Amino acid sequence: MQRPTLEPQTAERLLRAADEMLEQGFSFGVEIATYGAAVLTTNQAIYGGVNRFSPSHSLTLHAEQVALAHCFAHADPLILAMAITSVDQSAQPVPCGICRQLLFENARFSGYDIAVITKSQTYYLSELYPHPWPDRPPKRD
Ligand SMILES: [Zn+2]
Repeated sequence: MQRPTLEPQTAERLLRAADEMLEQGFSFGVEIATYGAAVLTTNQAIYGGVNRFSPSHSLTLHAEQVALAHCFAHADPLILAMAITSVDQSAQPVPCGICRQLLFENARFSGYDIAVITKSQTYYLSELYPHPWPDRPPKRD
């Protein structure tokens, strides 16, 4: 997979877009951390997402999932990079296992080793998720 080339100002723009999403946090009164995410698509558009807590817990949407759904809704589904921020400064806001899988599925189609940008470090998906599943493309009918 090819690593995307990102200018520092593009990474900053993406982090600002993720930070702006933090203002949209809503948790039904439950005290949880708010996460913001923003994706940069292969068409150079930016789409944001914020986590959405569900009282059922299993229906909670992660900020990364919402950002990906946002770009899908604009028919611009393939991404080069994702920035993630959080109001919780005690831990780096790297994607969870489920979100790493979603990023991998996106990368499989785009061919890009997605840059995952936090305020303190930039990772590539292959570093965060070195042995993705499945290890072969999905079968097509
Ligand atoms: Zn997640």
